[in-house]
Amino acid sequence: MADCIFCKLANGEIPTNMIYQDEKVACFADVNPQAPVHVLVVPKCHIESADGIDESNSDAVKAIFEAIPKIAKLLHVENNYRLINNCGEGVGQTVKHLHFHLLSGLDAMKERLC
Ligand code: 5GP
Ligand code: ZN
Repeated sequence: MADCIFCKLANGEIPTNMIYQDEKVACFADVNPQAPVHVLVVPKCHIESADGIDESNSDAVKAIFEAIPKIAKLLHVENNYRLINNCGEGVGQTVKHLHFHLLSGLDAMKERLC
């Protein structure tokens, strides 16, 4: 997707401080953190939202869920984090590239869930 900010971040077209990456997955800090730990885990391929997942791209989603425990370990938040996905503008999806918020330090986000 030519004009997708997360495609550009995930694939290095726009430099960012990458917390984790592999062939299919990228993880970087949210620019507007809602908790002490707040990172975004995204596929390197463009998928608009959870509704866009199908058999042609679900390998990237599998890779995301395999990466998440590794990312939690890197961030020292194992067994102490929340994953959030917003699917659709009506529930707050603002960036139309599939992403999972990984948040920890939950005292800081009791009132707001991204
Ligand atoms: P959504 O509201 O779509 O579930 O989440 C989008 C998230 O992306 C928001 O938490 C927002 O702060 C973050 N975000 C938006 N633009 C950028 C950006 O350019 N860089 C980074 N690192 N995060 C972004
Ligand atoms: Zn994209």
